[in-house]
Amino acid sequence: MDKPRPDCAVFGIWGLPEASTLTYLGLYALQHRGQEAAGIVSSDGRKLFRHAGRGLVSDVFRDRRTFESLPGMSAIGHNRYSTTGSSTEVNVQPLLVIDRTGPIAIAHNGNLVNFRGLRSFLEEEGSIFRTSSDSELILQLFARSYGSNLAGRLIEAVKMIEGAYSLTILTRNQLVAIRDPFGFRPLCLGRKADGFVVASESCAFDLLGASYIRDVEPGEMLIIDEKGLHSSRFADSNRRAYCIFEFVYFSRPDSRVFGDNVDKTRRRLGHLLAEGHPVDGADFVISVPDSSNTAALGYAHRGGLDFEIGLIRNHYVGRTFIEPEQPMRDFGVKLKFNAVAGVLRDKRVVLVDDSIVRGTTLKKLVGLIRRAGAKEVHVRISSPPIQNPCYYGMDFPTKDELAASRKTIEQIEDFIQADSLEYLTPGELLSAVPHDNGQEYCTACFTGDYPIPVDDDERT
Ligand code: SF4
Repeated sequence: MDKPRPDCAVFGIWGLPEASTLTYLGLYALQHRGQEAAGIVSSDGRKLFRHAGRGLVSDVFRDRRTFESLPGMSAIGHNRYSTTGSSTEVNVQPLLVIDRTGPIAIAHNGNLVNFRGLRSFLEEEGSIFRTSSDSELILQLFARSYGSNLAGRLIEAVKMIEGAYSLTILTRNQLVAIRDPFGFRPLCLGRKADGFVVASESCAFDLLGASYIRDVEPGEMLIIDEKGLHSSRFADSNRRAYCIFEFVYFSRPDSRVFGDNVDKTRRRLGHLLAEGHPVDGADFVISVPDSSNTAALGYAHRGGLDFEIGLIRNHYVGRTFIEPEQPMRDFGVKLKFNAVAGVLRDKRVVLVDDSIVRGTTLKKLVGLIRRAGAKEVHVRISSPPIQNPCYYGMDFPTKDELAASRKTIEQIEDFIQADSLEYLTPGELLSAVPHDNGQEYCTACFTGDYPIPVDDDERT
C-alpha cells in the first residue's frame, strides 16, 4: 500500500498474573502499528525473560509454551516497523541489557532526531553498540548516568535525547512509562483489577478488559512498583506537537488518543470534506477500505449521500506472494482490492481516501473502478497534500517521491486519472481535531513546520 507506515507500538503491564499472555493480547490489538517484528520481556521479580522475533505477533508467539518461558506479574512488549535501524533480528525490541544495577529492558515508539550526533559522540568515548536502532542510545545514556536511583538515572538519560519517544521500560521490580515533552506519539494509562496497563493506544485496553484512566502527559515519567504509581515531570516544552496523522490514518478508529475518540475525529474530517469539497450530482460515496471507511461515512452523512461498498479488500494477502511470470497489469493492487461492478456500473462515484503519498495505488484503484463501469470518479482526500517527510517516527518516502512535493493538485488529478481531486486544507484539518485541553499538533508533513529542527545529517 502506498501509505506512510506507523513506526511501532509499545505496551506495559504491572501487577497481574499471566502478564506475558496479557501483553501478547495487547500487542495483538496494536498489530496495525508494526508488523515486522514483535517481542515481550517479563519479570518475575528476580530475573527478566525475553522472547522476540521477526514477523506478526501470531507468528512470533505461535507456541503456547513460549509463555511458560515468560513468567511473572509484569511485562513490556513491542511491535516494530523499522524507522531508524534496519529490520534485522538484532534490532527487534524490547531490547534487554544488564546494567550495573541489574537487567533493564526498553520498548520505544518514535524516532530521535539527534541520534547520529549522540551516537558518534558516545562511540568516540568508547561505547560499543550492538544494534543500529536509536532506542539502544537511551540504554547507553542510562548506563553512563550518575543518578542514585532509577528515576534520576532515566531523567538524566532522556534529557540528552531529542525527538519523539513514548517508552515502556522494565526492571526486576519497576515498570516505567515515559512520553517526550512534545508528546508526538500517544501513550495512555489504564487499570485492570489491582494492576496497571500502559499502551500506545487504548484499543489494547478493551481487549484486556482494562479501563482507560488518562494519557501519560508530555514530559511525564510514571514509575509503577509495589508501592503504587508515582508521577514526575522531567521536562517541559514551550509547545506540544501531537502527531495529527494519528487522527488521519495511523490510530485505530476504536482508540482514544490525544483526548478524543479517533472515530469521532475521523468522522469530522469527512464532514468538513463534504462541506468544503462537495461533488455535484454524485450518486454515492465509497471508501478505500479499511483506513478511509470512517471519513467516507462522515462525508456521506454530511453530504446527504448513500455510502456504498464499491471496493472489497482481501484481508488474507500474506506478506510474500509469487508474482506471475507473465506481468499482469496492476497485479499487486488487484491482489488486495477488487471493484464491485454491480455497484459501480454507470455511476458517478465519490471515492474518499485518507492521504496520497506517491499516488501510485490510488491511480490503480481509480483504474479498477473505471473498468468496473463507473461513469465518473471524484477523489476526495481527508487530509492536506503531503509535501514533506516525517522525522518523528513515521516511515515516509523521500521528499522527491511524495506526489505533492513536485506536482500541483491538478497534475496529481491528471496522474491518478480522476474526474476531480480535492483535499482538506491544513486549516480544515486543524479545525477537526480536539483543542479543548490545550492540545497542539505537529503538521510538518503537510506544512513543513517542524516542531523540532532536524539537522541534514539526521534526515535519512
Ligand atoms: Fe505526524 Fe506528520 Fe508530524 Fe510526522 S511530520 S509527527 S507524521 S504530523
